[in-house]
Amino acid sequence: MRARGLLITIDGPAGAGKSTIAKRLAASLGYLYLDTGAMYRSVALAAKRKGISFQDEEALARLAREMDLRLEPSGDGVRVLLEGEDVSEAIRTPEIDRLSSLVAQVPGVRAALSARQKELGQEGGVVAEGRDMGSFVFPEADLKFFLTATPEVRAKRRLAQLESKGLKADYEKILADIVERDKRDRERKIAPLVVPEGAIVIDTSDKTPQEVLELLLNHVKGKLHD
Ligand code: C5P
Repeated sequence: MRARGLLITIDGPAGAGKSTIAKRLAASLGYLYLDTGAMYRSVALAAKRKGISFQDEEALARLAREMDLRLEPSGDGVRVLLEGEDVSEAIRTPEIDRLSSLVAQVPGVRAALSARQKELGQEGGVVAEGRDMGSFVFPEADLKFFLTATPEVRAKRRLAQLESKGLKADYEKILADIVERDKRDRERKIAPLVVPEGAIVIDTSDKTPQEVLELLLNHVKGKLHD
């Protein structure tokens, strides 16, 4: 056992239910919720605000290494502080969805963020959520999950999420964006989205968050009593 508990990873495509489940799992175990998507989103937001070109890989990598980014546990999730400003909402727009998957293709950005993630996760007591947690950043994790769902179900969930925030959204456009983002995440050269070796794969299409959480908790209990 690591100093603070198990190191658990949750990977999967956009809208598979990772964030909801990762937050609840971390809360029920008293573990840290490590939202690595928020890190890529923050690089995208910071680059946009600073007027950095999304083609300028060197400047993006420098930004990822040097930016003041903190993820603070808050309520049922995480508060994202970029240069001291709370950007938790600002990083969750459709534009940042797209821009974050662009910066995520840049090797230097991945290197900088992976290093930060390793530091935060290696002592355990962590539920790390992302695209490459079990495959690349924490291949030695104690438990790995891969959540998935059909693109249509994932688009419907994203639509509901945006509408609940009062944002206007169009189902067909969201579906097209999800398919495009999946393709980019799966086909990129470094740390592409794959099912990590040893991961437990769960299709969440027909399951409620509570059902998925219970499935995961059963695996965790099994691991803790090993
Ligand atoms: O999970 P979330 O939708 O917040 O992630 C935003 C984007 O960040 C993803 O589409 C992906 O391109 C990138 N990402 C990544 N590796 C991670 C987490 C997120 O490439 N570990």
